Order: sequence, then structure tokens, then C-alpha cells
Amino acid sequence: MEAPLGQQSQRPSQEFPSIALSHLSSSAPSAAPSVFPSFAYDQTDRPRLRFYQPSSFVPDLDLDLRKIQIFVLGPLELLCVDEEADGDEEEKESFSRAYKIDFKTKDESKAFILAFEKWKLGGVDAKTDGPLENGTMVVSKSKFDKKIDSTSSKMYFHYYGQLVHQQNMLQDYVRTGTYYAAIIENRVDFNGRIVVDVGAGSGILSLFAAQAGAKHVYAVEASEMVEYARRLIAGNPSLGQRITVIKGKIEEVELPEKADILISEPMGTLLVNERMLETYVIARDRFLASDGKMFPSLGRIHMAPFSDEYLFVEIANKALFWQQHNYYGVDLTPLYGSAFQGYFSQPVVDAFDPRLLVSPPIIHTLNFSSMKEEELYEIDIPLSFISSVGTRVHGLACWFDVLFDGSSVQRWLTTAPGAPTTHWYQLRCVLAQPIYVMAGQEITGRFHLVSHSAQSYTIYLTLSAKMWGPGAEQGGILQTSSCKLDLKEPYYRLSQPQPFVLQQDMQSQQQLMQSQDISPQIQDGTGPNIAVTPSQILDSLDPL
Ligand code: SAH
Repeated sequence: MEAPLGQQSQRPSQEFPSIALSHLSSSAPSAAPSVFPSFAYDQTDRPRLRFYQPSSFVPDLDLDLRKIQIFVLGPLELLCVDEEADGDEEEKESFSRAYKIDFKTKDESKAFILAFEKWKLGGVDAKTDGPLENGTMVVSKSKFDKKIDSTSSKMYFHYYGQLVHQQNMLQDYVRTGTYYAAIIENRVDFNGRIVVDVGAGSGILSLFAAQAGAKHVYAVEASEMVEYARRLIAGNPSLGQRITVIKGKIEEVELPEKADILISEPMGTLLVNERMLETYVIARDRFLASDGKMFPSLGRIHMAPFSDEYLFVEIANKALFWQQHNYYGVDLTPLYGSAFQGYFSQPVVDAFDPRLLVSPPIIHTLNFSSMKEEELYEIDIPLSFISSVGTRVHGLACWFDVLFDGSSVQRWLTTAPGAPTTHWYQLRCVLAQPIYVMAGQEITGRFHLVSHSAQSYTIYLTLSAKMWGPGAEQGGILQTSSCKLDLKEPYYRLSQPQPFVLQQDMQSQQQLMQSQDISPQIQDGTGPNIAVTPSQILDSLDPL
């Protein structure tokens, strides 16, 4: 039997003035009775939201706080949605029920929301710290839900909930092998330590940390992959007994203790795609002890201009379909411009030959241990290169690496061109209007990434060829080209790297001259000369 209201003095509870409660999902609409809400724990320590009739000790409605969500309808109105399974637990038939709560004053409504958040998210503190204070929790949505579109996050976690995609990452042996080596070779950083695995997926990094002697690992994962992670961990009991799998978003879960070390694989294409680095930084602020370590601790984006006629022609040609004047009697050309623009707004993901780079790369470093989450909302990188060759520059090539700064061994995981290929490949932003440069000429520009709510970035790229030769000292820009791309919509061009010499053959040059407005430089043979391989470009690629 439930303990009556007001007689649970040993257990903290929190009561509120009366509200009007209407059952929205009930088939027979009822008048809204006046009831008293109360937050409390049941005998098994689960937080409950109960509604009592005046002077009744038995609740009219008793909800599991962990399974309800509250939506603000207005200053005095809340919607409470209960997703608790109905009836026979075995049948797992669940459906939601909704209740409308009407308050008498704004203050009562606000206090109720704050208490709801506190009991739902901070219930652990509430139990040990005695009676609750209002006003400690101000968010009604987590940081993640506030900035990320719910459709995007549903699709995102659905994707990671599937074994096939976790297998794809596990089968990237450069990736997984580097994590394994970095963890096992730095046993001293894990042995006897508390570890949090940020976005644990299949749980593989948690198992590595346990192998390295971790005292306990909290494996936090938001997708349905947790069920598989639990099975994998249970199937490896000698390690699994030191791992706790927690389902939920890093931004929302509570952990019972601080971590000595965070492990995570939050990198997307161009390092920042998926916006999971923000989650990693939030995990640092929420769970890492002040002298704790992060594995990896920093990431670097590398950028260099490239020349690749084949790629340029391939993209430009995709839009040629829309040049048809008589497609079953229809003129398609009104859409040619949009199609052309559309293809050039897709960053290209593939493995390219590093000899296509026309200058050594520049580096932008993100220090995960010290940066603010907000610094990832917008990343603005000024560009400046000296071209090693005379050529046509088709855009900016990018890749990244991350550092495991272990106490015993430092290890880099690199996705550089020419290094063993990873499932991230490399990324190239292709300009619809290439620019011409001569050897020694300066290329300037800007690489500006602006995050969006679909867990990715809009990329604004500008490259300019600076004045060169006689009169250069007066400065000035000779030629500028800009483009806008969506990192969320890449073009996966995943053939093997093109044999470099083939790309330069006469046949392709002829095709180019037919389909593109090619400068006289190419036709007279003084143009692109990317077969020259400046060894300093290749040397500069290897961070190891
Ligand atoms: N650590 C695993 C999986 C890496 S993929 C491995 O190295 O193989 C990234 C994982 O993080 C995905 O499974 C994804 O669902 C999870 N994830 C992403 N954002 C998250 C968040 N905000 N909270 C919890 N998990 C998250």
C-alpha cells in the first residue's frame, strides 16, 4: 500500500498548490478536477509525480517521472505526456497518455517546471541533500535538444543504432587499431582509473579501457546501440564487470562519480561534422575531474589548395544533363544554373593523391581539453599559401588528425592523403570558378564554418590569387572565387585514388578544352604543371 500524503516524512517530497488536471487522451472527456501535485520517491526509489484529491491519501494519478515529458503550452498551461507502458509489462505494449495541467499563477507554473526538472534530472542529489529548493534548474530542454533539430537527431541516433554502421567503424583498422594502441600503450593513464566513454556505440572503447586496467568505465550511448553494447559487454564478463552501460545523451544523463579520463571517438568528416565535438566538450565540463585527461585531447584541421582537372570536369559534367533543350519535348535548361550550383555545393569525400596539393597545408588546432563548446559554433580560418607550382587551383583540400597525449606514448590518428585510408577519407571543397596561379604566387582566402541545427556546418570558402610579378608590391587581388557548401550533403566519390599520371594525360586535357573555358595558358602548354612534386608538400603531411 502507498504511504499516505504528508506521512512520508523520512523520504523527501515536494508538494504544490492545487491545479486543474484534464485527461486529454481519455475517450470520455472529463471535467478538470482540482488536485494537488506532489513529487516523491516510491519504495524502490523511483521518482514519481502524483496528483491527490484534497484530503485524500491515495493518489488519483501516479506517474513514473522518468517516463514523462512536460511541454509548456502557455504561461499557465503545461502538457504532460506519459510514455509509461500500459497494462501487462510482458506484452511491452506502450502508448502515451497526455494530461493538461492548469495553474492559478505564473509563479506556481514556473516553480512546478523547475521542480520537475530537478526531480527528473537531479533526483540523486535531491535524495541526499534533503528538501529541494526551487529555481536551481532553469533548462526545460537539454543543451542538445535546444540546438539540434529533433528530426536530425532522430535520424542520427537511428543510424548509430544499427550494427552495420558500428561494424563499418570497427572495420576501419587504422581508426580502431590506433585507439587500441593508444589506450593499451598508455595503461598507466587507465589502470585503477574511472573512465567515461562518451558515445560508446558498440562499447568497444570501454572494453579497451577495461583491458588497460580501468577501475570502472561508464559507457554512455544515446542510440539503441546500448542494447547491443550491453550484450557485448556481458559476453566479455572479465572486462564487463567493470563497465556500466548508460542509455542517454551525454547532455542529459547523471553519473555517480567524476572521471579521471574521458575516451571518445567524436570525429566526423572534416573533424567537426555531426557536431559531436560539442558533446565531448560538454562531457568534459560535466564529468571530468579537474586534473583529468581526454583521449584524444586535441584535433587539427589541415587545409591546402589543390589542382584536379578530372574532379572539376566530373562535377561540372553532372549538371550537363540540364543543358538538354529537347528532353521528351521539354527544355531543361531553365534549371541548368541551379543544378550546376547544387553539384558545387557538395563537398567531395574521397581519397586523393597528395601530389594534387599545390602548397604545404596550414593547420587549425582545436584543443578539446581547454576550448569552450561555443567556439565550435563558428570556426573562421584565414588562409594564406604560397603556390609551389603554376597551375589552375580547383579548391581547398582538407583532412584532420587527433592526438592521444598519453603519459607513456603520444599517438596521432591521421586521415591525411597518402597515409593509410580511413573511413573518413579526405574532403575537398571545389570552386565552380577555378583560379590561376604561378609558382611562388600567394593564395589568400577564408574558410568559414557555421554550424547548423542539422548537426553539421555550412562552409563558406573564398580563395584569391594575390597580385604576382612586376607591380606585386602594390598588393591587390588578381582573381577571387567563392563558394558555399553544406557539409551535411557530401558527394561520396569513393573509387580508389586515381593514378596520378593518368589524370594529367592529353586525353583529359582535350576533353577539358572541349567542355570548359580553358585559358590560353593550358593550350600553349604553359599552364597547369602539377606533375611537379615539391617534396616539401609531401613531407609536411606526416604528423607522426
Ligand atoms: N565509441 C564507439 C562509437 C563511436 S561513433 C567506437 O569508437 O566505435 C559515436 C557514437 O556516439 C554513436 O554511437 C552515437 O550514437 C553516440 N553519440 C553521439 N552523440 C551523442 C550524445 N550526445 N550522447 C550520447 N551518445 C552520443
